Amino acid sequence: MQFKVIAEYFDKLEKISSRLQLTALLADLLNKTDRSVIDKVVYLIQGKLWPDFLGYPELGIGEKFLIKAISIATATDENSIENLYKTVGDLGEVTRRLKSKQQNSGILGFLGTTNTESLTVEEVYSILSKIALTTGEGSRDLKIRLLAGLLKRADPLEAKFLVRFVEGRLRVGIGDATVLDALAIAFGGGQSASEIIERAYNLRADLGNIAKAIVEHGIEALKSLKPEAGIPIRPMLAERLADPEEILKKVGGIALVDYKYDGERAQIHKKNDKILIFSRRLENITSQYPDIVEYVSKYVNGNEFIIEGEIVAVDPESGEMKPFQELMHRKRKSDIYEAIKEYPVNLFLFDIMLYNNEDYTTKPLEVRRQLLESIISPNDYVKVAHHIQVNNVEDLKSFFYQAISDGAEGVMVKAIGKDAIYQAGARGWLWIKLKRDYQSEMADTVDLVVIGGFYGKGKRGGKISSLLMAAYNPKTDTFESVCKVASGFSDEQLDELQKKLMEIKREIKHPRVNSKMEPDIWVEPVYVAEIVGAEITISPLHTCCQNLVVKDAGLSIRFPRFIRWREDKSPEDATTTDEILEMYNKQPKKKLESPTVDESV
Ligand code: ATP
Repeated sequence: MQFKVIAEYFDKLEKISSRLQLTALLADLLNKTDRSVIDKVVYLIQGKLWPDFLGYPELGIGEKFLIKAISIATATDENSIENLYKTVGDLGEVTRRLKSKQQNSGILGFLGTTNTESLTVEEVYSILSKIALTTGEGSRDLKIRLLAGLLKRADPLEAKFLVRFVEGRLRVGIGDATVLDALAIAFGGGQSASEIIERAYNLRADLGNIAKAIVEHGIEALKSLKPEAGIPIRPMLAERLADPEEILKKVGGIALVDYKYDGERAQIHKKNDKILIFSRRLENITSQYPDIVEYVSKYVNGNEFIIEGEIVAVDPESGEMKPFQELMHRKRKSDIYEAIKEYPVNLFLFDIMLYNNEDYTTKPLEVRRQLLESIISPNDYVKVAHHIQVNNVEDLKSFFYQAISDGAEGVMVKAIGKDAIYQAGARGWLWIKLKRDYQSEMADTVDLVVIGGFYGKGKRGGKISSLLMAAYNPKTDTFESVCKVASGFSDEQLDELQKKLMEIKREIKHPRVNSKMEPDIWVEPVYVAEIVGAEITISPLHTCCQNLVVKDAGLSIRFPRFIRWREDKSPEDATTTDEILEMYNKQPKKKLESPTVDESV
């Protein structure tokens, strides 16, 4: 398959402004793709060479060396490229222009290189992989030479997108749900196919693998797909409620209640003595936790499994739990073995999804728990989450208070009974979180996606000082604006923000963004931040839950304040518009009777 086809689609994708067109174009591209390279094309569409969970190296070519490669490929000196870059602001576009000039002046023929042999997807993929996997002494020169060779052979449009790919600038904007929809349109024909594909993807979060399975065996075959050790499962998520009585009712009056630990979620896979740890975002974090790898291999019995739990920092003397921030300190240490000593951790397991080739996601929680309990040898480091079974509100409340005084964040209330399966990739009422209060009127914080930025005035004149934030609507796979956040940032964070946003700035609104408000700059929807606010209110300025509460108005967060970046969340993991609606509906009654309309947010 010719790489040119992909470059042409990327070019078209840049110019569209709606999610519908985006999926239609992607479906079209997938239809035109040779079956043999469908997995590779799916990764390339997402700006990747392979799924993140493999933990393979990135391309490793910084801007300076990228310019060197462009210089070699286009026979232009580096200074001229840098100058052009300053005026154009996009190295991909710079390369396209230089290549076109070269082509028009016939310099290619003169240099003995012609474009008669066009690039194939296989070649491009294999050279890019080689660039990424080259390490050690002399690797930098080799990377530059390989890339220059590739750019030399590319036509102007291909070169533009190759440069963007190397810069990591394609790695934005096209989420997994968009690709899933495109796959359903291209190969399935309709809603039922969508559901089958999505289920398969929830059990094996590798889009390339799913695309390959579809073209090789057909959609129907996906129905019997099981989780596989080594490929992450999309995590099951919890709903939230603040009232213990209501929670107990929701789960049918009886529940298994776990401590809700304040650490890092870990999905741990074992296959043939190899242990892998995946984060909440399904990134490979094995190298950060050699201690956990050792504990699991020593104390969890079985040849092949997928288990899930929370890694929590503990005090080495007292064994007491420490807050999440301690884990962050550990992550910042460059010497991992020193970090292990200074910030020891324990693992609290709460689920099992695969055991010795048997799929446990379809079995009830009680069965999963029994198995989990039975495969852990007694030890001080790996335990099943502290839990009780409750059937009345009093017991639930007292366990909640006990959890908090032991340093947990609250409790997770989990439904039991035969339907209480592991719902991979879904946020549902089988798990409900009850957290200690956040000292604000909003019962919980929200995680929102940055979709734009506004310049400040005065001291921060000309610099970004507030952000336009959005919630995620999974039904339409779009981001709906919900507030403008201007407080909670330190000066340092603001400076960093400036840099961060400039790298993902867009000329026009992203096709997956839905906003009435026009920020000073639009950005790719990639960053997620935790925000707290005073309350949810009706706002004619925002599109979140537009028309659902009041005609021509949406919902917004009043007095939003930035708390921290949520690097462990992808944009599609952000708080959903349904959750915002739910939070709005749960607010004290008076607000429901006479909605607060806030024009200022
Ligand atoms: P979510 O993961 O639901 O999107 P979040 O990342 O903002 O939300 P929380 O609202 O704190 O996290 O709640 C869910 C998280 O709680 C889980 O992702 C998991 O990491 C953690 N957790 C701690 N203890 C447990 C437990 N016993 N069972 C399930 N999850 C637990």
